[in-house]
Amino acid sequence: MVAGLTTGCSTQTAATPLQAEVSLLAVESSVTLPPPPTVSPSATDTATHTAVPPTNTPIPTLTSPPTATAQPSATPTATSTATALPTETPTAPPDRTCPETPPLKPDYDRFYLAPEFWPTPDTAVAQPHFWLAKPLPGGGRTLINQRFPYGWDENGRLLLHNAVDMAEDLGTPVLAVADGTVVVAQSDYNAYYGWRCDWYGHLVVIELDQTWLDQPVYVLYGHVLNINVEPGQRVEQGEQLAEVGLGGAATAHHLHLEVRVGENEFAATRNPMLWIDPGETRGVVAGRLVDPEGRPWQGVPLALVAADKSGEILGTWSYLGDPDDLANPDEGWAENFVFSDVRPGSYTIVTQIQDVDYQLPVEVTAGEISTVELVTEPLKTATPTP
Ligand SMILES: [Zn+2]
Repeated sequence: MVAGLTTGCSTQTAATPLQAEVSLLAVESSVTLPPPPTVSPSATDTATHTAVPPTNTPIPTLTSPPTATAQPSATPTATSTATALPTETPTAPPDRTCPETPPLKPDYDRFYLAPEFWPTPDTAVAQPHFWLAKPLPGGGRTLINQRFPYGWDENGRLLLHNAVDMAEDLGTPVLAVADGTVVVAQSDYNAYYGWRCDWYGHLVVIELDQTWLDQPVYVLYGHVLNINVEPGQRVEQGEQLAEVGLGGAATAHHLHLEVRVGENEFAATRNPMLWIDPGETRGVVAGRLVDPEGRPWQGVPLALVAADKSGEILGTWSYLGDPDDLANPDEGWAENFVFSDVRPGSYTIVTQIQDVDYQLPVEVTAGEISTVELVTEPLKTATPTP
């Protein structure tokens, strides 16, 4: 099945063991979570990322990649509430100039309690926004690559993933997930839309007609080919935009789907699985894994175990800590992990941190979001285990 394909968006050597897969299999076989991975700061596998220069040692420029923040940030948005959206808005376009040197891959922290507090849920806006239809034909289950979910980096093998991947045959139609307007339809070989130029190969971005908390919502389709729309064109949900392809940082043909909120920028993404309608047969769990003070545990594996002995187990990881804030929570749920494509039923969320086992029951309902908060014991040591 295509769902088993590894479809990383970042280049890596094919011979590298799939550490993330191993972790998942360990969870499946015994429900006992694997021990914290030993993360050496100079892990050799980071050197295999040809997508970015080898990360040798401390990265001095984490907070500000040279030109990543070059776009004018303060253009007034006085007309942003205008109802009519002509083809051009008065705001200055972002700078898409390719940086001379692409940003380095940061050292993401695993099994690490962030020093900063995570946002708290906002009940005023905590409501489902499953506005997006499946971007591939056939409906049904979204063939998300569960080993490379939003906010994870495959145990250091890849860059932090700010999207979801869906494996599908080359040439499969890629569909508009909602009504909107095409704002990008081109190669990014000489345009800065992702981690670096030539990140997506070819991409399409549509701006949805709907806004979220008065912010525009963009959906980006990466690694596509045979684009059949152009900027400014109106599209309706279900309309073909392009085909599943291969290009940029992709190592296998697949669709890379991002949801960007507020601005069409790489650092403005949200977890797409909180936006894609799970359909009539699946539900979604949005969870928080935090300490008693509300700081998020990052890069921690979690399992979702069916209570009915069906053997259904899903695995995921809490969002990694990232100095560039590439993984962002929803304003409403303030989640730092998500299980998607879950069959309705009773489940237990299982994890282990600092030798303490945690189990939390959760009910999953088709077409809905179940929210959970798992508050751990306080950090046992002053310094996180490396
Ligand atoms: Zn991807």
